[in-house]
Amino acid sequence: MKNPLLEYPPLPAFTRIKPEHVEAAVDQVLTQNREAIATLLQQDEHSWESLIQPLEQIQDRLHKTWSPVSHLNSVMNNEALRDAHNACLPKLSQYATELGQNTALFQAYQRLHDSDTFSQLSQAQQKVINDALRDFRLSGVDLPETEKNRFKEIQQQLSTLKSQFSDNVLDATQAWSFHTEQESDLAGLPPSAIDMAAQTAQSRNQRGWVFNLEFPSYFAIMTYADRRELRQQIYKAYVTRASDQGPNAGQFDNSRIMQQILELRTQKAHLLGYANYAELSLATKMAPDTQSVLDFLSDLAKRSRPIAEQDLHQLQDFATQEMQLSSLEPWDIMYLSEKLRQKRYNVSQEDLKPYFPEPQVVQGMFAVVHKLYGLSIEERHDVDTWHEQVRFFDVKDPIGQLRGRFYMDLYARANKRGGAWMDECASRFKTKDGIQTPVAFITCNFTPPSGGKPALLTHSELTTLFHEFGHGLHHMLTQIDCMDASGINGVPWDAVELPSQFMENWCWEKESLNLIARHYESGEPLPDSLFDKLLQAKNFQSAMQMVRQLEFALFDFRLHLEFDPQQPDQIQNLLNQVRREVAVIRHSDYNRFQHGFSHIFAGGYAAGYYSYKWAEVLSADAFSKFEEDGIFNRDTGQAFLHSILEQGGSAEPMELFKQFRGREPSVDALLRHSGITA
Ligand code: ZN
Repeated sequence: MKNPLLEYPPLPAFTRIKPEHVEAAVDQVLTQNREAIATLLQQDEHSWESLIQPLEQIQDRLHKTWSPVSHLNSVMNNEALRDAHNACLPKLSQYATELGQNTALFQAYQRLHDSDTFSQLSQAQQKVINDALRDFRLSGVDLPETEKNRFKEIQQQLSTLKSQFSDNVLDATQAWSFHTEQESDLAGLPPSAIDMAAQTAQSRNQRGWVFNLEFPSYFAIMTYADRRELRQQIYKAYVTRASDQGPNAGQFDNSRIMQQILELRTQKAHLLGYANYAELSLATKMAPDTQSVLDFLSDLAKRSRPIAEQDLHQLQDFATQEMQLSSLEPWDIMYLSEKLRQKRYNVSQEDLKPYFPEPQVVQGMFAVVHKLYGLSIEERHDVDTWHEQVRFFDVKDPIGQLRGRFYMDLYARANKRGGAWMDECASRFKTKDGIQTPVAFITCNFTPPSGGKPALLTHSELTTLFHEFGHGLHHMLTQIDCMDASGINGVPWDAVELPSQFMENWCWEKESLNLIARHYESGEPLPDSLFDKLLQAKNFQSAMQMVRQLEFALFDFRLHLEFDPQQPDQIQNLLNQVRREVAVIRHSDYNRFQHGFSHIFAGGYAAGYYSYKWAEVLSADAFSKFEEDGIFNRDTGQAFLHSILEQGGSAEPMELFKQFRGREPSVDALLRHSGITA
């Protein structure tokens, strides 16, 4: 039997891939790749064609073997596949570490960089080489031997501590629950939340209802439960998880782990020649320096805070005047906000859904990109996929040239990972046989059609689809021929959400909704009255949400910038200080939000949480050009296509942005879109 993962067809043979193919294929490719790299490094002189191009083919071979496996593991999971998938993970990470620390490979890049031919390379090629050299240095490749060993030690300790941090949060989340058999405790909760609590009780062989600290349960209580003591109780348990406070104080305490993580990160930054971890984080990002990030966040905070205070005052007035509460406590905020939102904007997702049947929405989205970029999107029925719900499309430009292809898998089903994402199936680059066409996976988890009706999307699902398609266009429309700079490759973390958030804007304009929204029975467009309510509700409490995000971002960034192991209680003190400067909501003294802040302690957002807002500024400002010129202005569409989408990671994002906008980004559009300024 031939192994379909080793045949490298233009599109994966999904129906023929079986779990037993996985490990054998990965083993074989890794062996071949190691041998091929060793052979490449025996050359005395290196050129783009003799070094980088073959390396791209080597990487592409591994990607073609692994990408369908990792995709199937996400969307068609089963035990055998998961075992095969997981068995390969350590092998792949070992291979990646080896490459990053391969001194001979690093020196080959360096020689190419220093050679006469370097200046003759394209801007994209030069950037690929410069980025690679930077990444080699960031993985410690050119450190003296003793420091190299210390670096490896730090990396290992950090990875252990990060997983201990996550384990503590998980254990603390699972350790607390609230069991009740009193129906009065359920007052205010929607039926779906009550069902969920009954199921949780059943699964534990208990009568009545069980609430816990998993987000859907916590969220339902905080937003809807009329019983104030119940909200207070779950609030306290939630905000003290994995800390020295609350019902399980000290049991899963992350305090020491957080301190150790920060110490090790600081040591790592020093080894690599940076003054602190924030500087190290920025080495791979768009933001030029730490002061720019601080100024950026402080400026947004200064402008948003007065409006956030107004939001809070309105909530306080509502609490005293209409809800007869003498004080507004932290466990009242979500609950009262929901009541106020319902009172002001009586619009529910249920009212909107009939206007967003999936077939119309997808056609409408294609019509939007046809108007903007002249793209034609054609469905293909002759492509092998992993499920009957999956559709496949070719994207062609105005002269009929195939630019990209994508799989679209929109519906939730058993054994499919939750959430929505875009992933690369194949990247554009120049092979020895010509240009490889980029292929994308667009994955969502919408409610499937039932009862003879088409699937009806909520407005937020519509926005999600546009968001992921925006990432997809960035991946597919690139004209860059080097793999590490084509599409989303080589785009810094704080700029990569530009094309995706940018696309969301077409979900909020009447002119584009006329293409997207049609009542699934009557065929009517979205009525003006519903559209107006949708717009009004969009910015409810957006300034309060803005300062909350800024509080997280400033805390994360300053912590990694100012960390000093000698200072006692620095983490808590810094958080208190940031809150005094930025926050409008008062927190309880026992609040230990930071002990569960997995994004920065266990995930990849350390000194990078600001990226969310940074990219939002770029996308809002880019869209404001369309507000000025017309949201379907073809010239502006072409300019965005040529300056941003086609360029991928081939140049600094600031350069590309300026090319499109004619100036540096400004926060004005984001503040206006969020209703913070007029
Ligand atoms: Zn995204």
